[in-house]
Amino acid sequence: MEIANAYLNGVYEDLCKHYAEQSEFLEAVKEVLETLIPVVEQDPRIEALNIVGRIVEPERIIMFRVPWVDDNGKVQVNRGYRVQYNSAIGPYKGGLRLRDNVNLSIIKFLGFEQIFKNSLTTLPMGGGKGGSDFDPKGKSDMEVMRFCQSFMNELYRHIGPDTDVPAGDIGVGAREIGFLFGQYKRLTNTWTGVLTGKGIPYGGSLGRTQATGFGLCYFTDAYLKANGMSFEGKKVIISGSGNVAIYANQKATELGGKVIAMSDSNGYIVDENGIDFKVLQVIKEQKRDRIATYPNYVPTAKYYEGCSGIWTVPADIALPCATQNEINLESAKALIANGVIGVFEGANMPTEPDAIAAIKEAGLLYAPGKAANAGGVATSGLEMSQNSERLSWTFDEVDAKLKGIMENIYAACESAAAKYGKPGDIQAGANIAGFLKVAEAMIAQGVSY
Ligand code: NAP
Repeated sequence: MEIANAYLNGVYEDLCKHYAEQSEFLEAVKEVLETLIPVVEQDPRIEALNIVGRIVEPERIIMFRVPWVDDNGKVQVNRGYRVQYNSAIGPYKGGLRLRDNVNLSIIKFLGFEQIFKNSLTTLPMGGGKGGSDFDPKGKSDMEVMRFCQSFMNELYRHIGPDTDVPAGDIGVGAREIGFLFGQYKRLTNTWTGVLTGKGIPYGGSLGRTQATGFGLCYFTDAYLKANGMSFEGKKVIISGSGNVAIYANQKATELGGKVIAMSDSNGYIVDENGIDFKVLQVIKEQKRDRIATYPNYVPTAKYYEGCSGIWTVPADIALPCATQNEINLESAKALIANGVIGVFEGANMPTEPDAIAAIKEAGLLYAPGKAANAGGVATSGLEMSQNSERLSWTFDEVDAKLKGIMENIYAACESAAAKYGKPGDIQAGANIAGFLKVAEAMIAQGVSY
């Protein structure tokens, strides 16, 4: 379907012509452009200076070969990417994803979303994203280290504390960040805050590990409260069992909810007594094992093969925290039929466009990832501040700042939605509020990028 504004539709059609094979990227762009119609109609500078046509193209894309030697002495090759999308409001900032399905389309969609997410945090961070089609799952620590060192052997030329500051994402946790940071330090002979998500002994911020999951729940809580509800007594389903999902479980439980289902890419578990995030920490963070083993620790839990079945489990609140396009129309219909209050995205773009439309049409709450999961990058921004100051803040200080940031993001989304004629539409509000700040900065800086 066409976007109902000739300028925005022209920009989108041009992208379709050039990047027809980049389906995730086109999906992410269309979702944003559709909500920018009132902005473009009210501010003629946007079209006159072709701000949208510029914002959809990355400032720079770096693609490189990543050779490494496996434990059998065989030379392997993967593809590495860093998309430096937009630096109008700060150095490029965004995670690195290591997963076998990574390609340029996925990295571009993530980088594009990151522009608006980072803008929403109110911190001075531009948008970027990177990664590789290397999957750490099933690799030894030494193989992961050799891959990370090789990846950094190229990436270090393009990043720096005032240029581009990568962080973690799917497949990149504390172990990978440590290996990447060590190699950057060796190559440049500098100790700088060039990566975030670092370990606490070497410049990491307390609270960064928990930040995306906690932030998602702070955002959701603010959204629920604005609608006269809360987590108290609610059944929650959370897809995934990685960094975002585990800490979303912890905070949702602390706020009075009960997490009854979680998943990984093989299957899902259900336990009406509540899923214990501490057991998941052991399984996922220490043993790097599968969620299928959870019932060995907690026998009241049941394991089911196949990850999409999780959306058929009756619950009040859905927190997709695994990956893109994990809720299709069929899953959305199951959620609606089960009387869910809303879908609040911890993952990036987890809900397909027709599923979002169905959720909104059914009158449910819907929080897009670029607003609801911004707590991770916001706390990365706080880690950068601490590194620059050569100071460390306490966990409680960081957590209090995170909570304030998430509540402010919710308020900004709500108010932008109302101002541009879409009251209550947090999806439109997030895109508009995120876009406005970047657009103003691009206008002020002339046609430099
Ligand atoms: P993670 O620690 O690597 O965990 C990812 C989880 O999602 C794992 O349980 C994984 O299962 C599952 N998963 C991955 N691909 C899947 C698929 N195709 N189908 C079903 N399940 C799948 O990653 P994460 O950091 O939690 O990131 C999760 C999501 O949050 C991503 O969309 C990411 O972009 C987004 N996000 C992360 C952060 C952050 O700070 N980490 C910030 C903002 C947004 P397996 O173990 O089977 O692979």
